[in-house]
Amino acid sequence: MPLKAGDIQKKLPDGGKKNCKECGFPTCFAFAMKLAAGTTTVDKCPHLSEEVKNDFIESLSPLIRLVTIGTGDNALSIGEEEVIYRHEKTFCHPPGIAMLICDDETDEVISKKINKIKEFQFNRIGQILKPGLIAVKFSGNKEKYLDIVKKTADEDIPIVLICEDMTTLFEARNLVYDKNPLIYPITKDNLDKALPAIKEKPTPIGLKAKGIDEIISLTQRLKQEGIKDIVLDTSPQNLKELIRDHSIIRRAALRQEFRGLGYPIISFPCHLTTNKLQEVLFVATGIIKYAGIIVMSDLEKNTLFPLLVLLQNIYTDPRVPLAVEEKIYEFGVVNEESPVLVTCNFALTYFAVASEVENSRIPAYLAIKDAEGLCVLAAWSTGKFIGETIGPFIKKSGIADKIKNKKIIIPGLAARIKGELEDELPGWEVRVGPREASELPVFLSQMVGKS
Ligand code: SF4
Repeated sequence: MPLKAGDIQKKLPDGGKKNCKECGFPTCFAFAMKLAAGTTTVDKCPHLSEEVKNDFIESLSPLIRLVTIGTGDNALSIGEEEVIYRHEKTFCHPPGIAMLICDDETDEVISKKINKIKEFQFNRIGQILKPGLIAVKFSGNKEKYLDIVKKTADEDIPIVLICEDMTTLFEARNLVYDKNPLIYPITKDNLDKALPAIKEKPTPIGLKAKGIDEIISLTQRLKQEGIKDIVLDTSPQNLKELIRDHSIIRRAALRQEFRGLGYPIISFPCHLTTNKLQEVLFVATGIIKYAGIIVMSDLEKNTLFPLLVLLQNIYTDPRVPLAVEEKIYEFGVVNEESPVLVTCNFALTYFAVASEVENSRIPAYLAIKDAEGLCVLAAWSTGKFIGETIGPFIKKSGIADKIKNKKIIIPGLAARIKGELEDELPGWEVRVGPREASELPVFLSQMVGKS
């Protein structure tokens, strides 16, 4: 458990009773409360010894360290998770899916892969889903490896440098140092040799060990050396070991507050199997079981998309429904003849309806009623999407001033509100639309054709 205000107060000057106010707070306890809440910093109290300051900093820092790979808008930050199970709170920092590129691949394959990672982006519920990193692996051709590293540096995508030859690894690191790459693997055998170069130009470190005990000894050694941005690989050899090791790491970090394992994890499904479908299943397991970086041998649209959707769902706050703003949205060049559709503000509903209205190529207004992020049926059954709530929203929206024929289309799933909405909106014709959004293009073209 992070330090509580009472524990902090006891360590403040005079047992927390000095109350000199120099920190800007009226009492030591007030300062302790703010420090525990993370809204002030230890340096505000000038009377703390370095030892107490460091103790507070360590105790108050996240149980799993936040590690950032790359720079700028596309940088990937992983770690700082606070719970083991998603239903407890939320998972905060989604993992990055990395595509492996190796110097033993042909130039054609390599440039195809680089293009894929740039092109494979999907807009889902208003969020852009995309793979996060390129992992460049050394297999013996130094010149080509460094050339690939240089090429990938031109893309604005975080890089994982995978190279067991330390000289080549640090040459590659120097080429892209300003991109803040993750360098991997640092092991118990190469650590001493690698340390001076790591310290000379610090970037995140990927530690590789044979199992949990060995990785702990490595993290402790790096901590002594002042190196904190670490990502862990315990070298699981199969799916069972992957789940076991990832679970042990997450539990030890959060339940036992064991700082030696309080780091994000890197996972290599690409090395666990040569079967592409199995690899996808291993990646899915990594997404669910705490991986921070997941390296795939290649990316294909048809398997990447469901993986990114899984990732999006796992890392969405389960306590907050995905919702869009209540307002009138316009699609195409609307005019006074354009139809008006109404539905609720559950994001998935909005994007499904919006995309079908766009597909229809018929300019239309989409009136989105705030229903606290619930879908149509749930919103209707809880009284949030009924005539009495929709009517006042439509009147207040001003849409009536923009159209000539007052026709409003309600979702087929909410057909039973037709009568009550007509009562709320005198002079309007309420039409029942299809039950499925996919039927909207045909429905709209028939409606516009008839009217
Ligand atoms: S400056 Fe330090 S000693 Fe003074 S009130 Fe604040 S916390 Fe207490």
